[in-house]
Amino acid sequence: MLEDILDSAKTIATAVGQKTQELVSYSKKKLSCIELENELQRNYAKLGKVYFALLQEADEKSTEVEELISEINRLEEELTECKKQDCTENSKYCTQCGSENSAESVFCCKCGHKL
Ligand SMILES: [Zn+2]
Repeated sequence: MLEDILDSAKTIATAVGQKTQELVSYSKKKLSCIELENELQRNYAKLGKVYFALLQEADEKSTEVEELISEINRLEEELTECKKQDCTENSKYCTQCGSENSAESVFCCKCGHKL
């Protein structure tokens, strides 16, 4: 069972690798250390996401994986909540000058117009 999952993970990882190679040969510019580091982190994250999706479906999980999955799920939920709040809290715009104000503001932070 776990073997199958790891096999399909390898296939996906190879596909991701091929895509990256295509991209590299496409834009042959030299990357700076920071860009390379970022690129590496992005690929690690991508790989992690692939494994995450596969492991979530797996029957046998180690405690470490189990904990990571629940931690990621918790953070994802928190992020969704956070984004929702950001949208509602910052959605008040001044009718006078168009400045963005937080939802609980009574007067515009820029021109003082009553919101
Ligand atoms: Zn204003």
